[in-house]
Amino acid sequence: MNKLPKISVFTLGCKVNQYDSDAMLAVFKTAGFEICEGLEFADVYIINSCAVTAEAEKKSRQSITRIKKVNPNATIYVCGCASQNNFLQFAKDNVKYIVGTDNKLGLARKIVEEYTGDEEVFDKIFNPADFSIGSEFEDNDGVVNLLTRHFIKIQDGCNNFCSYCLIPYVRGRSRSRSEESILRELDSVENVVKEVVVTGINLSAYGRDTGTSLTDLLKKFSKYKKFGVRLGSLEVGVIDKEFLDATKKIRLFCPHFHLSLQSGDDGVLKAMNRKYTTKEYYQAVRLIREYYPNAAITTDIIVGYPAETEKEFVNSMKFARKIGFSDIHVFPYSSRKGTVAGRMQPLSPDILEDRAKRMGEVKQELIGNYLNKQLGLPVRVLFETQENGVWVGHTQTYVKVYSKLGSRNKAYTIVPISKYKDGICDASVIESKL
Ligand code: SF4
Repeated sequence: MNKLPKISVFTLGCKVNQYDSDAMLAVFKTAGFEICEGLEFADVYIINSCAVTAEAEKKSRQSITRIKKVNPNATIYVCGCASQNNFLQFAKDNVKYIVGTDNKLGLARKIVEEYTGDEEVFDKIFNPADFSIGSEFEDNDGVVNLLTRHFIKIQDGCNNFCSYCLIPYVRGRSRSRSEESILRELDSVENVVKEVVVTGINLSAYGRDTGTSLTDLLKKFSKYKKFGVRLGSLEVGVIDKEFLDATKKIRLFCPHFHLSLQSGDDGVLKAMNRKYTTKEYYQAVRLIREYYPNAAITTDIIVGYPAETEKEFVNSMKFARKIGFSDIHVFPYSSRKGTVAGRMQPLSPDILEDRAKRMGEVKQELIGNYLNKQLGLPVRVLFETQENGVWVGHTQTYVKVYSKLGSRNKAYTIVPISKYKDGICDASVIESKL
């Protein structure tokens, strides 16, 4: 067999896309390809594209040009949400093959067969059913990530049709992975990873199509004592006593709740077709804080939704302060063709820029408040990297921590005494600066 080429999967977008890329990379690694990172020099590239905003879709297109700069003779394949949304935009000379969101492993099979010239090799190393969602998503014992964090994808698609969102159109209906295959994957990484991040496109919808629920699944996580459990983005509707009780039974549960808000004004929430009111959102956060007084509540807020008035925007800022988020991802509204909001007249770029700046100021103020609250509290930190002799890691509430007392992939309890860079640090860093 000829020497297999160097291959890279260039991933844009969310954790779910990252998980899909990891799955494809596992296939290529097992088949004997040399794996390259991102835009490192390679012979073959797969662009796993994103379409959540117009900017993300543009970046997906531009990555073809960036790859050509690295290797003008590279062979390029494209998959993901942007090609699902409009594959013609990728039909360029050195793009060999384009698929959408639900046939990424089919693409991996095609590439393995093409370069090995062996039509059986893929099935020998991998049963395709091992890596797609719905009834076929069974197990991937072969894949163990020797990483700090292991992303596990338990759900794909969404049925919510928020009026600004393209995802239900490009990723399809919500579908859940079987509990059995999820637990088998977690069993296979239990002794290897320090933290597991549970991801999905609409995690909160997990199990609605298979007669179970995210809460029922989390009840089965109580047997895992060795790794931290962090949840991806959640919708308010999933937060109740039973859900929080289930999290309390997970020994190393990370009390960091990314609770998507999008707007702090009820009129705008209704226009967005979001399924809750600010009152319900506030009650859910209060309940979380009854269980975890120091929980990190982070969120996404869209500013400049079409027809959002100045008064409604001010309500959004007020509500963000009322909640006291520990961080806010601020998204200037991005019009997506094919969505309900995509048919509305967007606000001017000046208004978007102005509102993004003002909500950005609220974000910084709230981050500062939350970091201050962490000082003096002993925290469990998972250290990941080292910068100039200082270890950098994250707490269970996903606060960045700097300390000289760390090591890779190990968890330590430290007492932060000061805000430092974009996080907090302990005395070992302050003393070294004196
Ligand atoms: S919940 Fe709304 S914003 Fe989230 S993926 Fe579904 S449609 Fe999009």
